[in-house]
Amino acid sequence: MDSVAAPPPVVRPKGPAASPWKQALREAIRDPAELCRLLGLPPDLGDRAAAAGFGLLVPRGYAARMRHGDPADPLLRQVLPVGEETLEAPGFGVDPVGDLASQGAPGLLHKYRGRALLVTTGACAVHCRYCFRRHFPYEESPKGLADWAPAVDYLAADDSIHEVILSGGDPLSLVDETLARLADQLAAIPHLRRLRIHTRWPIVLPERVTDALVGWLTGTRLAPVVVVHANHAQELDATVAAALGRLARAGVPLLNQAVLLRGVNDSVVAQAELSERLIEVGVTPYYLHQLDRVAGAAHFAVPIEQGRAMVEELRARLPGYLVPRYVEERPGNRSKTPLDSLP
Ligand SMILES: *Cc1c(COP(=O)(O)O)cnc(C)c1O
Ligand code: SF4
Repeated sequence: MDSVAAPPPVVRPKGPAASPWKQALREAIRDPAELCRLLGLPPDLGDRAAAAGFGLLVPRGYAARMRHGDPADPLLRQVLPVGEETLEAPGFGVDPVGDLASQGAPGLLHKYRGRALLVTTGACAVHCRYCFRRHFPYEESPKGLADWAPAVDYLAADDSIHEVILSGGDPLSLVDETLARLADQLAAIPHLRRLRIHTRWPIVLPERVTDALVGWLTGTRLAPVVVVHANHAQELDATVAAALGRLARAGVPLLNQAVLLRGVNDSVVAQAELSERLIEVGVTPYYLHQLDRVAGAAHFAVPIEQGRAMVEELRARLPGYLVPRYVEERPGNRSKTPLDSLP
């Protein structure tokens, strides 16, 4: 991010200065033993075989929000590779939500009427162990503006589509210049009305919310919507609140989607605290997702009956706008499937 230089002049190293968020990503923790040592935990708590399949990636600022000496910390549990990931679980596969069947063009998923989802990149600021796209063949997806041409053509050819969702991976892993150019191309399609960003960056590495980002996001005729992904109130510290505040002050509606995760947020208290903390930082709870049945994540599963009972209790304790919609993604359905209203 550009800043106005103030006297006295400081001596900078030669060469282009990396933006703070890229630098922070470069310095992120990639070694499970290092993360454990930082937290005062036994260095062998992480599992090598699990980490070999899908590496550990944790920004230092996110690790700083974990409780020292607590192996059951809800943030640590989301990111630490563990042996349970390598166990086979019946019903848990590599394409749990039918993504591969709904590609309208390379990298474009068109499952629901009126909106389509663009897989912009496989890169993320963090590796979440429960991620439903951990086996997605990102190397076959477009990586740059030229590669998105077929997807943009597809969007232009279907005037029933009013909203484009930038997803991934995490779209904010791309640099702002690329995203700004993509936003311009989308804004040139007359029937598009909204640009939605699905991202975990503001939660795990809030330095990513730069002036440049706010600039392109609010700089086209498309109405912006940002859906962040926080699972626990402890993730929402002052640095995150500041980043979200910047987006909110720019007029960007902010929603949250969480995943219901055993040992992370599978209690009424944890869910209520998450909702209350979210609205304090300007974010409205949107979805609480039932875990997608992805191989390696079975140990995070919470039975639907338990989730339903939790949401019912939340409804009794919180105002309606703080109760997320409890949903599951089922291949072939016309929308996410509501779980709280099914018999
Ligand atoms: C989840 C999802 C959406 C968004 O669904 P909403 O209910 O609008 O939030 C859109 N497209 C795809 C392919 C999805 O998986
Ligand atoms: S940030 Fe999102 S896409 Fe990336 S690993 Fe986490 S859940 Fe998956």
